[in-house]
Amino acid sequence: MILGAHEGVAGGVSTAFARADEDGADSVQIFTKSARGWEAKPLDPDEVRRFRAEAKRTGKPVAAHSSYLINAGAQDGLIRKKSWAALADELARCAALGIRWLIFHPGSHPDEGEGIRIAAEGMAHALDRVPGPVRLLVETTAGQGASLGWRFEQVAALREGVPGALRRRVGVCLDTCHVFAAGYDIRTAEGVKATLSELDRAVGLSHLEAFHLNDCKKALGCRVDRHEHIGQGEIGLEAFRALVNDPRFASTPGFLETDLRFKENLGVLRSLVR
Ligand SMILES: [Zn+2]
Repeated sequence: MILGAHEGVAGGVSTAFARADEDGADSVQIFTKSARGWEAKPLDPDEVRRFRAEAKRTGKPVAAHSSYLINAGAQDGLIRKKSWAALADELARCAALGIRWLIFHPGSHPDEGEGIRIAAEGMAHALDRVPGPVRLLVETTAGQGASLGWRFEQVAALREGVPGALRRRVGVCLDTCHVFAAGYDIRTAEGVKATLSELDRAVGLSHLEAFHLNDCKKALGCRVDRHEHIGQGEIGLEAFRALVNDPRFASTPGFLETDLRFKENLGVLRSLVR
């Protein structure tokens, strides 16, 4: 696995690479705009040039994580409209910066089937509006409240809800904390194996294109999203040992989203590599 982290962008998106260098992160995830606002300033062309130069200099694979406000499956028409537009805008920002993946949470809706149908339509809308190589990754969620994408069957339905040619640009990001919170027991190597088999049956492992590597503060099946430092939560080290040594993911990026201390957490992950 290409071990990396979600780096800050204070001072401009291009500054994430120097932070990644400092942390020893070999892959980088960033926000291309504020994660908690709808509005985004257009990207500064000079900053785009610096970003592309830094990406080339470091050779680190890059993903963007979308704003937390986006709810592509929203029941409320106005929020849905804003979310679909924001998702397309974030895809366009990734295209401008040369970022390969946009990772997003599919959103929430009180009716699961209806929410999945709407979210998939929103994904198709965004992909259609922004042609090109940027890929949209559905992140597995913790299943908090009415959120979608916590069961692998839902992730599969979201992907399959996107029509043919556009679907080829849709993949999956597995968050270890979220799947554990959703009830997938990955505390042992056997548990990881069983969980990946389940994901393979539902979605297909070939569509698994990135990981979020986080331990979990809360118990198995808690359905809440609280990240913990690697090896210090309820998941423990074995899940991470199994994942970082799995040859199927040798060239897959895995991003830490622990609350900073990336250097230390990357050290822990690297100590597990055989
Ligand atoms: Zn996320």
